[in-house]
Amino acid sequence: MLKFVFLGANGSLQERGNGNTSLLFSNGTSSFLVDVSVNIHAAVEANVDAVVITHEHIDHMYALPSLLHQLWLSKRTKPLTIMCPDGVRSMVNGLIDNFAIRSKNGIFDIVFETAGHNSVGSMELEFFKTVHTPNSVGLVVSEGSCEASKRIVYTCDTAPMENPREVLPQYVFGADVLIHETNSVCNVRKPDHSCGLDAAKLANELGAKRLVICHLPKGDDAKHAILKEACSLYPNAELPEVLKEETV
Ligand SMILES: [Zn+2]
Ligand SMILES: [Zn+2]
Repeated sequence: MLKFVFLGANGSLQERGNGNTSLLFSNGTSSFLVDVSVNIHAAVEANVDAVVITHEHIDHMYALPSLLHQLWLSKRTKPLTIMCPDGVRSMVNGLIDNFAIRSKNGIFDIVFETAGHNSVGSMELEFFKTVHTPNSVGLVVSEGSCEASKRIVYTCDTAPMENPREVLPQYVFGADVLIHETNSVCNVRKPDHSCGLDAAKLANELGAKRLVICHLPKGDDAKHAILKEACSLYPNAELPEVLKEETV
């Protein structure tokens, strides 16, 4: 059983009730946060085992020092693993050290892992390169053996991949959920982001059972315009509901 909850689903611009995209994954016994921006109380309450930083943009990591500080104030003792691409590690360390987090009295251990093939409890995380920044990654989350279990694919920030069959692990085909960024509608798409049609194309190519779009612009009308694009190719595409936990 895999669970996920959006802590925020917007792109760089927050609005009432919806902050920058960040997701909390769990299997009932272990949990991890992907990107750190809003509603970090949920990650503190879960006492997350790990944090993933997918790339070096501000909307994906700015709240990390506050998360570590809140975990320390909550008397956490177990180590925290931070998974990120190697090229992002010095920036993440800079955020931590600017606030002298490691010098807090009794602070838990902070352990870095390179984002590659990692695990959190019995959940497996397989990272893949995305088309966004020199360091950006997306990930596949599965419970136990990748081929046999439920699988969630999260693209994080990316432009459309030219050859997804070469970039993505083969077992993502038939994924239970594809969570895909859609920063805008297609006619104003930025070169390092995707639109509704891009997300729907990948969902069809993967044979994904569900498509949930995220990293959305402000405003219901703008969100629904992207959803309409996606639904023209993948009829049951969904907008996320922030803070609603879903079980896969
Ligand atoms: Zn972003
Ligand atoms: Zn970005």
